[in-house]
Amino acid sequence: MKQSMIVVALLALAAPAYAQLGGILNKAQKIQEAKGKFDDLNVTEEEERTIGEQVSAKIRQRFGVVQDPAIHKYVTLVGTLLAQQSERPNLAWTFIVLDTDGVNAFASPGGIVHITRGALGLITSEAELAGVLAHEVGHVAHKHAVNAIRKGKAVQLGANETLSSRGPFLDKIANKAYDIVLENKFDRNDEMDSDKVSLTLAEKAGYAPGKLADFLTRLDERNKDQPASNGLFASHPDTQARIEAIRKQAGSRNGAVVEARYKANVKYKPTPVTAIATVEDGASGLTGSTKAGDKKEDAKKEEEPKKKGFGLGGLKQAVAPEKQSAQVSASGGSRGVGPDRAAKGGSNPAPVKVSVSNAEVAEFKRGVA
Ligand SMILES: [Zn+2]
Repeated sequence: MKQSMIVVALLALAAPAYAQLGGILNKAQKIQEAKGKFDDLNVTEEEERTIGEQVSAKIRQRFGVVQDPAIHKYVTLVGTLLAQQSERPNLAWTFIVLDTDGVNAFASPGGIVHITRGALGLITSEAELAGVLAHEVGHVAHKHAVNAIRKGKAVQLGANETLSSRGPFLDKIANKAYDIVLENKFDRNDEMDSDKVSLTLAEKAGYAPGKLADFLTRLDERNKDQPASNGLFASHPDTQARIEAIRKQAGSRNGAVVEARYKANVKYKPTPVTAIATVEDGASGLTGSTKAGDKKEDAKKEEEPKKKGFGLGGLKQAVAPEKQSAQVSASGGSRGVGPDRAAKGGSNPAPVKVSVSNAEVAEFKRGVA
């Protein structure tokens, strides 16, 4: 599609020069060939979603899902309204409320956005919720997780990677993506980029842009006595720099805050950061794996991907639940992450399926005023 557009554009420019047509088509053909090769090193939209589903399954396993259709419906309405304004409106956007007091949000590749009960408790208006969800929509829309893996060469994409060896290759990507998403390891530029997307989408949906900064300020205040970087927005770039950048970009632009509807739909109260129950080392009865141990484990996995030849379905086997909770314990303790990341979660990982029609979203948007 893009190639044909390029060809059309080139033809329009060179309309009288029919003699050049052959050359142009040749060039288009070469672009096509180059693109084919490039795409082999990328993941398709379908593969991206499959990776995202696996990442989401692990996040849900870790924190549990609030088994309440009403809160899912509300968050899905806000999220869908924003996602429809994004560059990827046609993804199967899904919004999940995680059952933990910890304040966090996670964007899984392919359009699965998670926000915690604790985050909803700390947020005070729909415009703030929109700011947070739109930031996560930005990570998905711009494929930050998958691109970070490619840029960082954390997963080697061999030039001879063929379709038949794609299963293990995608497994590796899914494991790395989970790590990036869970630990919020997006780089500074990606975070700033998602903040920009957040402003744009919130404004397009009718919300006051920049309310994300209000939420970050509250979060920063809450976290001020935390020695370790703590969850959601506490990675680099530092929160203060982000708050300033968001406020500067938002300027005096305004829009709806929608406080009443938020309070009517969200009844959660924030848990003080010092009162959040966390998963402790050894709580699972297993010895937490150390960082060095994890590396060893990774190296071992990379040595023998072809032998096993499992597809994405093999991911569940690759990280057994016991090992997951051991890693969680280790993270909460020895890696020095804060209570939001180490927070205890609910026990039910089952997704709560809700659907919203375009008519419902349109009706909901009328309330953004
Ligand atoms: Zn982010």
